[in-house]
Parts: sequence; structure tokens; C-alpha cells
Amino acid sequence: MRRVVIAVIAAAAALAFAPAPTLAGPPLARVTGSVSKGFPNSGKLVGGKRWKNTRWARQRAGRAGSWGTPQMIQLLQSSAHKVAQRYPRSVLMLGDISARDGGHLPGHHSHQSGRDADVGFYVRDAAGRPLQLERFVRFDAEGVAVGDKRAHFDDARNWELVTAWLGDGRVEVRSLFVAGWLKARLLKRAEQAHAPKTLIERAQLVMMQPPNAEAHDDHFHLRIACPSGQKGVCFDDSLDRTPHAPAGISAPSGDGG
Ligand SMILES: [Zn+2]
Repeated sequence: MRRVVIAVIAAAAALAFAPAPTLAGPPLARVTGSVSKGFPNSGKLVGGKRWKNTRWARQRAGRAGSWGTPQMIQLLQSSAHKVAQRYPRSVLMLGDISARDGGHLPGHHSHQSGRDADVGFYVRDAAGRPLQLERFVRFDAEGVAVGDKRAHFDDARNWELVTAWLGDGRVEVRSLFVAGWLKARLLKRAEQAHAPKTLIERAQLVMMQPPNAEAHDDHFHLRIACPSGQKGVCFDDSLDRTPHAPAGISAPSGDGG
């Protein structure tokens, strides 16, 4: 009963900040049963969906952030499944998404509203065979793991993952934080694989090394756009807290891991 009351209050609160209802669709809470509130670095998650491990995707042990919007969970699962279909024995390794109700998640600035996820890179050995590591490892510009020469950044599978994210059609990728030198490897792979020009241009745009945060050379930080129908409640990008920033909302920056 208490859960129902909370859900009703949450839905009412969400609607209070929503744009005036139109004839276009049902009220917010009935669209997805979940609301991504506020900003990635100042927000909440209402009615989030819990991550469940599968054969092709699992979360690192001991993570507190196992909740996301249904769209995020669906995107992570379907993209990992696509990669595993093309490259058997692929297992995506997930880091944090968000806490159950969103809000501050230890070790992160963002990850507050169910639309950010840390995703480990696919790794191969020197012979090209999938290598399953139990932690995130950093890769240099040659694609070799720092401190572990047997592990290589798997250009083909990581590009396949980016392709699955950008080609989903149901979810819009807002940004994808990754180190500049790994972005260069992925774009090179895209050219080699004769990826469509529009896809390469889109990848060029969304992949970025955040200027005021860690380089993201040991994982992707995936951020998806607000669910449709939640404009006015949900804001795509982080709130800029730097003192000299122009008023308003910045492009993704300083988000940490
Ligand atoms: Zn992150």
C-alpha cells in the first residue's frame, strides 16, 4: 500500500512539472511507468527497472547502481545481445547505472537519473580471441592494456557495440564518453568495416573525451536522452556547476566516471 501511495505521489509530482497535457498521448506515468527526473548530475529515478545478468551481459560484482530507466536497461541488453550474436562468447561487462531511486551514487557526479551507464570495453588476446576480464582496464593508443600486455582493446567488437547503440532506433544516445585515442581507433575500424557515412558522422559527434573529467580509457560512459514525453521534467544534459559558466545547461562536461 505504501508503495502505491509513493508511486501516486511521485507521479503527481512528475506531472506538476510536466508541460500542459496535450491530445498527443496519455499522462507521463502511464507512458513507461518510470520517470527520469531532473539532470544527470542532479536528479532522481522514479519507477526504475533493475538490471538482471544474462549470458551476454553481466554487471561487475558489488556495484550499487543496478537501476535504470526501462529504455536504458533495454538498450544495454539488446546491444550486448547483438554483439554476442555476431561474435559468439561475447559478454558485456557493466559497471554502475543508477541507484534504485537515483540521486547521488558514490564515486560519480552523474548517474543520478537512470540514463547513465558505465560499460567495460570488449577485450581480446593477441590471437584475437575474446578475453573476459573481471575489472575495467585502461588501454593506450596502441590498444594495449596498461600493465597487462596480453589484453588488447577489441576494435571490432567495441565498434559493433557502438553501432548497436547508435542504431537502436528506440533510444537516442546523447553522448558517449571515451578517450580520444580510443575514439580514433573506433572510427578507423568503422572505415575499415565500410560503415555507412551517416553512422560514422553520428559516432564522430557523440563520442567525446570529457574535458574536465577522467579520460575514460577504461570504460565507455553511455548517456541516453530523456524518454519521450518527459520533456520539462527530464533534462538531457548535466547542470553546469562551474562558477563562470554561462547560465543554463552545459554540454556534457565534468561528469566523472
Ligand atoms: Zn560513468
